[in-house]
Amino acid sequence: MTETEYMRMALELAGKGAGLVSPNPMVGAVIVKDGEIIGKGYHKQYGGPHAERNALADCTASPEGATLYVTLEPCCHHGKTPPCTDAILASGIRRVVVGIRDPNPPMAGKGIEILRAAGVEAVEGVLEDECRRLNEVFFYYIQTRTPYVVMKYAMTMDGMTATRTGQSKWITGEAARQNVHRDRGRYSAIMVGIGTVLADDPLLTCRAEGVRNPVRIICDTRLRVPVNSQIAQTAAVVPTMIATASSDIEKHKPFSSATASTAICRRIWIIFIWMTIFPRFIAPRTSAFRRSTKSSVGSRKTSPVTSSSSATVFMTWRSPKSTA
Ligand SMILES: [Zn+2]
Repeated sequence: MTETEYMRMALELAGKGAGLVSPNPMVGAVIVKDGEIIGKGYHKQYGGPHAERNALADCTASPEGATLYVTLEPCCHHGKTPPCTDAILASGIRRVVVGIRDPNPPMAGKGIEILRAAGVEAVEGVLEDECRRLNEVFFYYIQTRTPYVVMKYAMTMDGMTATRTGQSKWITGEAARQNVHRDRGRYSAIMVGIGTVLADDPLLTCRAEGVRNPVRIICDTRLRVPVNSQIAQTAAVVPTMIATASSDIEKHKPFSSATASTAICRRIWIIFIWMTIFPRFIAPRTSAFRRSTKSSVGSRKTSPVTSSSSATVFMTWRSPKSTA
């Protein structure tokens, strides 16, 4: 097998982590010694060991003197797991072939430098384009600090989204619907307007096997989401956020009464939490929401984005079922 073929195998392995490793990138690794593959691994889930460590653990022979093929530059910092460069150096691997450098400017090239300084031969740029494309979402976010947003809608052959009578269920086929569910599993969040909730009463979950549900974000300026909607009824099991501009206590009540077990959170707190833990969960209005946060905190002014009423409020809640 050629270097490109080993890297392609590593790419395929990496892809198995789709929808499971975010906000980390998907990474795959293959260890080769004397022309034989002795270990394979990929980053399986967020917080778990990185691809390099999984490949080393998978080795059927000593990795001493072997070559490691890895789709992304090995990390050299302490995150949820110790640096992969440490594990590579400790293993006695003599050569590392990297698909693409870490896109994070302070980290880019650092892992490779450390390996080279320790006498390991490091080659980079093998199938670089493919390696970047695999982690398009990760690269985009790291380099722009802006969420990667995909707009999805169903369209008829003549460019319409519904029939003359407004009927839109279903104008696509089975294959398209399967793609929708696959995509839901790959992205961190799914956002719809309240109009969609009122018209379709959607569930917005991912019905593909082995992947997690995206966080559901409902843009609901006047807090009209029905308590008996599928979204509300499943909020205990599927992470859900509502962005609303309503401070009407009566409207909040169904979600804040004792039976509803609701936590209405101050927006500034909830944004802080979400942005820290799940930086990409806040969809394209992030900067607008941040602006509205400031204005409401500083001067109690109207949100410039969502409506002419009071400031935007983020809330999370559990459905009445959750306390039953
Ligand atoms: Zn690592």
